[in-house]
Amino acid sequence: MTSPASAGDLPDYAPVPQSSLGVALNDQGYYVGRVERNLYWVTDGVYQSAFLTTTDGVVLFDAPPSIGGNLRRAVDEIAAANGVSNTVTHLVYSHHHADHGSAASLFDGDVTRIGHEETRRLLIRDGDPSRPLPDVTFADTYTLQTGGERVELAFHGSNHSPDNIYIHFPDHDTLMFIDVVNAGWVPIYNLNLSEDVQGYMQAPDIALSYPWTHFICGHLGRLATRDDVAVHQQYIADIEASSREALASVNPVPYYVQAGVNAWAGVKGHLDAVTERAAAPVIAKYTGVLAAADIEIFTTTTTFAIMQSLRLDKGPSGPVHP
Ligand SMILES: [Zn+2]
Repeated sequence: MTSPASAGDLPDYAPVPQSSLGVALNDQGYYVGRVERNLYWVTDGVYQSAFLTTTDGVVLFDAPPSIGGNLRRAVDEIAAANGVSNTVTHLVYSHHHADHGSAASLFDGDVTRIGHEETRRLLIRDGDPSRPLPDVTFADTYTLQTGGERVELAFHGSNHSPDNIYIHFPDHDTLMFIDVVNAGWVPIYNLNLSEDVQGYMQAPDIALSYPWTHFICGHLGRLATRDDVAVHQQYIADIEASSREALASVNPVPYYVQAGVNAWAGVKGHLDAVTERAAAPVIAKYTGVLAAADIEIFTTTTTFAIMQSLRLDKGPSGPVHP
């Protein structure tokens, strides 16, 4: 681990906007709060998970290792305060990634684990004992009914990961959808480390097609609103428009002429120029609006990924040689 002392001084970043700041944590480093009625969310300021208390026990949604044992403490705290069972009966995986799931092994015993069929396949592939396999899987939709509660799980195609699901709480006015929108913050590198660029870009529309007021996005220290999703969509739309403009206006020929026989040097010169031209106005527009917009590499790598997807997925990648 790199310690702050050896990491050097923090560059002079813009202040985090007030509206992006999260809740205060307790002495143990977590916050647990009510989303609506018996649905709760937990954060350590960077990661989020959620749980539902029911007449039969507790249903967990994700188990990020950074929250880890504090998830147990949060469940115990709420169960004790409300006089309900603290027994974890179910655990739902939002997707297979370890950073949202590898405290799952803390909740063993008689726990039913639920996830998308692709989550199970990827967890078998990756063989990490800290993420036990889902016992119950589904392809398109699954209704979880337990202890008088209902949760609707659905898969609408790949986005951040090939298995990322929408977790809708119709009786709690809430949607949980992880690693696409960061409430009040820009996505980190490469559209939040996403595998399917077009799927990622289209996912917020799907999220907004559900009825909800509260949105559990998986990261940072507050819940999201429909306005947060709209601002995220505008940020991505601005990058797409800016990338189209830059692709059309940067002439690649001089870069290839200059590079001579080193064709890949020509590619680098051309694509770096397109990326820089496309990202610069977006970084300027969102600094002070979305936290970390001025950490330029986040927006430039996201711009690069979108610009490449415009060429490769949407096409054309260039004129057809006569
Ligand atoms: Zn992820």
